Order: sequence, then structure tokens, then C-alpha cells
Amino acid sequence: MTNLANQTGNNRIIGQLNGSNNGPTLVFFGGIHGNEPSGEMAIHEVFLRIEEEEIPINGSIYGIRGNIEALLAGNRFMDCDLNRLWTDEKIEIIKGKAKNELLNEDKELLSIHQVLSDILKTESGPYYFIDFHTTSSKTLPFITINDALINRKFSKLFPVPIVLGIEEYLEGPLLSYINEQGYLSVGFESGQHTARESVDNSIAFMWLALVYSDALKRLDVKGFEEYYLQLQNSAMKNGSFYEIIYRHPIGSKDQFSMLPGFKSFDIVNKGKVLAEHNKRAVLALQKSSIFMPLYQSQGEDGFFLIRRIPKLALWLSAVLRKIRIPALLPILPGVSWADKKKGTLLVNERTARFLAKPLFHLLGYRNRQINKNEILMSSREATAKNKMYSGTWWY
Ligand SMILES: [Zn+2]
Repeated sequence: MTNLANQTGNNRIIGQLNGSNNGPTLVFFGGIHGNEPSGEMAIHEVFLRIEEEEIPINGSIYGIRGNIEALLAGNRFMDCDLNRLWTDEKIEIIKGKAKNELLNEDKELLSIHQVLSDILKTESGPYYFIDFHTTSSKTLPFITINDALINRKFSKLFPVPIVLGIEEYLEGPLLSYINEQGYLSVGFESGQHTARESVDNSIAFMWLALVYSDALKRLDVKGFEEYYLQLQNSAMKNGSFYEIIYRHPIGSKDQFSMLPGFKSFDIVNKGKVLAEHNKRAVLALQKSSIFMPLYQSQGEDGFFLIRRIPKLALWLSAVLRKIRIPALLPILPGVSWADKKKGTLLVNERTARFLAKPLFHLLGYRNRQINKNEILMSSREATAKNKMYSGTWWY
């Protein structure tokens, strides 16, 4: 692979290392949100150490800077959130714009998009995409993934909680875009924005990912066990799977403030006052855990509520997907293929209510767009490139 830093002509590339063998390709993103510098710092530190210690590499490793202008300014974004633009429709619109119409984030997107397609064109799989973020509130470190089995299996190796199904509530995160093309993609939220622990957790996560993907040998990474223990302790030995059950949206003109003191994964009881929204109290709908409460001025999500997924449900859903029960769903009344190749289903409202969301979730479906009478359900399994990963030790 040619040197991408020379090719892109800016500081998009934090690092690039190409090993001698045909191994995995790992791509780490840092700073997709400009007020979250921990990820790029961590990526930079790990690249330095690999080079200094001349650790042998199997395959290729890339570190990519996200929103460069916003990182320099210390803002979450300049014109709009770079992590909400990654849908086919929005990308087409951006590509069609005249140069002088491009917003800062449009330019950032086009440049990252180019780098991604260069990597996919020239490198071989299996690919691992890892995106580093931090949160405005205190939190245990955690993983967010789209619910495909390849993502679940790889994520399970890390001793931190795993939150499924964020794509049902957010439009256009980078990882969903990559995931829709079938590749393994994992988001890691390492802690609070400015905490040093967030950098350390991302560093630990990166070493683990490099070893688990077989890009580096475990014996070559000094302190591997300590990195594992650091993540485990930081996550307070919580390695459970969670799913999102509620998102509290806020409009751009709304007045919203969380009550102080909430951390992600804190358990809240039904009726607990969580926030004030346009001078009205916002209560917890049911006993659940609070997730990503907003303690910064920019953002469209006030908070989320999550609940732990029972082990039995996880196991059952894996089995049902493997025997391809989902392929039979269009037999049901009110269910038809929207796009068989992409695995998307059109489900009428009444059927969806009757069959209930949990069944579709279990089978790997997530609902996204809703017109009046129909829900579009997309499957993470139909597009997942499982074969690409079937030779790995963790699959
Ligand atoms: Zn972020």
C-alpha cells in the first residue's frame, strides 16, 4: 500500500504500518468528534511504541484522524455532527455539492471516504474497524456495536460492557455505514472527555484489539495482561450485554439540562427525575440503567435508557440466526422483502406491534425508518461478511 499520508496531503493519517505478511487490516479512528481528543492521542502513542520497539506486524494498521478542524478548535463539530452524515443518501448529496457549498464536515467526510475506499481497494481482509469516542458524563468504558454476530463475538473478548442497537436511534454514524458493507466495526467509549483514564483505556483497548485480531503476537506486547486488567478494573468487572430501550431527543431550540451526578450504567428506578426539558421534569419510564446523559451544550440526545440482555436471549438469538429462521419471516402476513439482497423487510405497523420488537431484535432486525403504516427493518446478518472472519480464532 502506498503511503496514505503523502497521498492525502494533510494530517488525516495518524499512522500507517504495513507488515510483511498477508494478515488482517485494522483501521482505528480518533476524534470523529472534535471535543474527544483521547482517541487520537491513544492511537498516536501506540503507533510510536510499535515503531520504537520494532514490533513485527502481521497485516496492516491504520490510524485515522476524524474531524481535523473541530479537533484543532476543540469543538464537537464546526457546522454539523460528522458522525450523523454516513448514510448513502447524505453522502450522495455531499458528493453532488459545488466546492463552495461544502460545509466543513462535508469536506472531512469526503476525505475520510476517500481514505476508506483506498484501504478497502488495496488491503486484504479480514478488516477490523475501531472508532474511539468519549462521553460528556462519567462512565464505565464500554463498547457500542450494531447487532451482527461478528461484532458480538469479537467484542466479547474485551472485559467491558457491550451496548447493542444504537443504530436504531441514531442516523448516520460512521460505524453503521461501515457495518452495512459487511465489515466488523466496534465503537469504544473509553471514559469522560478530558480524563487521562480515557486515553489509557483507549491505549489498552488498542493493544488488545491488535493482539486479538492477530496483527501482533501477544508475547511481543509487553504488559498485555496489565492492559486487560486495567480495562476490567475500569469497567468494574461488568462485561454484560445491554440494549437501548429509550432515547430522549432534544431539539436545537430546546432548553435541556440533566440533573447533576448521573453516570452511564447507574441504575434508576421508575419515576426518578432525570432531567429538566423546557421547564418540565423528565422521569424514568421504568427501572433501567441510564446511558450517556448529556452534560455538554452540543448534542441531540439528552440521555438513553438501557437494560441488560439475559444470557439465554443472547444464546437463543445466535442459534436462530444460524439456522436462518429470519429468511422465513416474509411468510408472515404483513411482512415482505423490501430488498432481499440487503436483507431489509417491510413490516406493517400492526404486524410489528403484534409480533413485538423483541422478536425482530432476537433475529437480528433493527427498525429504522417509519412512514405512516410501514416499518423498514434491516438485518445486520444478511449483509455481514461472515466468511471473511470464519478463519479467525475468535469466530
Ligand atoms: Zn463521540
